[in-house]
Amino acid sequence: MGRVAMSVMVGAAESNNMAATELQLRVDNIEKQAGGSVAVITLARPDGGEMPPWSPGAHVDVVLPNGIVRQYSLCGVGDKTTTWRLGVLREQQSRGGSEYVHTSLRVGDLITIRGPRNNFPLVDSERYVFVAGGIGITPFLPMIEEVHRRGADWSLVYGGRSRSTMAFLDELAQYGDRVTLWPQDEVGLIDVKGIVERLTPGAVVYCCGPEPLIAAMEEATAHLPEGTLNVERFRPREDLL
Ligand SMILES: Cc1cc2nc3c(=O)[nH]c(=O)nc-3n(C[C@H](O)[C@H](O)[C@H](O)COP(=O)(O)OP(=O)(O)OC[C@H]3O[C@@H](n4cnc5c(N)ncnc54)[C@H](O)[C@@H]3O)c2cc1C
Repeated sequence: MGRVAMSVMVGAAESNNMAATELQLRVDNIEKQAGGSVAVITLARPDGGEMPPWSPGAHVDVVLPNGIVRQYSLCGVGDKTTTWRLGVLREQQSRGGSEYVHTSLRVGDLITIRGPRNNFPLVDSERYVFVAGGIGITPFLPMIEEVHRRGADWSLVYGGRSRSTMAFLDELAQYGDRVTLWPQDEVGLIDVKGIVERLTPGAVVYCCGPEPLIAAMEEATAHLPEGTLNVERFRPREDLL
C-alpha cells in the first residue's frame, strides 16, 4: 500500500469530455531532472495491469492529497501500456500543486488521476514544426516519437532559460539535428519570426510553453491558413484553482 491515498479518474478510453472513472495509480519512480526543477514521475497500476490508452498530446488531472487538482501532460515514450509518465516543473510561487509533487510525493504513494483527455491532438500532416518553451516540452515527447515513427518530416525548437534548466535533453539527443536547442542565456529568445518565415507549404505548427511565446507564435502565424498553429496553454482550469 502506498503511504498516501490520492485518487485518479481514468476513462475506459481517452475522451475530450470529463466522462471518466477514477483510478488509483502507484508512483513507481521519481527522477529529478534539469537541476532538480523538473520531477519526472512514473505511474503504474498497483496490480501491474494494463493502463488505459491515450494519444500524444493528452493530459490527466492529478488529484493531490491536499485537495489540489492539477493537469499534467502524458509524456511517456516507448511502452505506454504498463506505465504513464509525467514531467512536473516546480513553480516558484506554487500554491501547492507542483510544490506537493516535488516535496511530498514519494515512490509507493497512490495517487488519483482523471482522464486522459486530449485537447492537443496531432493532426495528419506530412510536415510538423514543434516549438516548446520550458516545461512545454512534455506533450511533444510522445508527439515527436509518433511523427518520427510515421516517417513525417518534423523539427523541434526547444527553448529554455539555460541548458541546465531544460529537461529531457538526453532523450532528445537521439533525434540529432531535427532538434534545435535554444537556451536563452546563449542565444536569446526563440526566433519565432524566423521559424514562421521558413515554414514550407502544408506544415503544421505546434506550440506549448509560456504565454509570451504562444502569443508571439499566434501573432506571427495570423496570416497563415486556419489550423496551421496548434497551441496548448498550461494554465490551470479556473474551476480547479
Ligand atoms: C492541459 C495542461 C497540461 C499541463 N501539463 C503540464 C506539464 O506537463 N508539466 C507541468 O509542470 N505543468 C503542466 N501544466 C500546468 C500544471 O497543471 C500546473 O498549473 C502547474 O504545475 C502549477 O501548479 P501549482 O499549483 O504548482 O502552481 P499555482 O499555484 O497554480 O501557480 C502557478 C503560477 O501561477 C501564478 N498564479 C497563482 N494564482 C494565480 C491566479 N489566480 N491567476 C494568475 N496566475 C496565478 C503563480 O504566481 C505561479 O507563478 C499543465 C496545465 C494544463 C492546463
